[in-house]
Amino acid sequence: MTIQWFPGHMAKAKREVQEKLKFIDIVFELVDARIPTSSRNPMIDEILVNKPRIMLLNKADMADEEITQQWIAFFQKRHIKALAIDSQAGTGVKQIVAAAKEMLKPKFEKMVAKGIKNPRAMRALIVGIPNVGKSTLINRLAGKHIAKTGDKPGVTKAQQWIKVGKEMELLDTPGILWPKFEDEEVGLKLATTGAIKDTILNLQDVAVYALNFLKQHYPDRLKERYSLTEIPEDIAALFDEIGRRRGCLMSGGLVDYDKVAELVLREIRTEKLGRLSFEKPNE
Ligand code: GDP
Repeated sequence: MTIQWFPGHMAKAKREVQEKLKFIDIVFELVDARIPTSSRNPMIDEILVNKPRIMLLNKADMADEEITQQWIAFFQKRHIKALAIDSQAGTGVKQIVAAAKEMLKPKFEKMVAKGIKNPRAMRALIVGIPNVGKSTLINRLAGKHIAKTGDKPGVTKAQQWIKVGKEMELLDTPGILWPKFEDEEVGLKLATTGAIKDTILNLQDVAVYALNFLKQHYPDRLKERYSLTEIPEDIAALFDEIGRRRGCLMSGGLVDYDKVAELVLREIRTEKLGRLSFEKPNE
């Protein structure tokens, strides 16, 4: 779903998340494992100040495994707990409750020390930008299908707690925050991975970005997928080669660049070029 974010929406979304935080012991910050920086909200650290947090690198099934491990080590160095998960298949999701329990142990031990015999369940909130997989994860954790609220800031309904086993309760509506779209490269990465819809950015611009990235970081996959012996220097020539091989032609036989752009992006998003990561730590 495409969301139009305006300054007023952003302020409201921020307030809504801050409001929810009052009831929360721990936040699960969901990012896309393929673009852990670009899929974050630029104000998240400011919004979540001092809240225990676990970074969830979601869609790890689509990301380059080795790079995901580098990200986990990167966060670990900064004393941030990060887990790689696949909310769709459920891989890694079981670790979340255990990690939260571990992180909140001191807090709950204090409650017990104060004489509270049966401390309540941990209360958690999922936050993240649109399309990062928040609803999918909520449904996974809930073990049933929870209706998705309008994916728009400001669309609220009565909130409910979902039980996740005996030890955790999760707010049924996630915190939805905006990405850093003022940065052009962030926008291109979000579009390449399919987090923002193709109507927002020019399709050919996105494909040019994606192909240049593949050329630089995954040249062998690019060659193999499109049966290229060499990758042409010139990006237009690369579009031509792919277009001719895959029949993306206009009447008269000229290569249809829009069709090539669509094809390449579709194939990236459906893992036809394998598992890809578009950001490494420390770049
Ligand atoms: P939300 O806007 O953050 O609530 O995102 P959704 O839960 O609606 O997910 C957006 C899209 O990503 C949907 O098509 C999901 O099926 C897909 N998705 C979510 N999590 C994963 C995952 O871990 N792996 C893969 N491959 N797809 C996922």
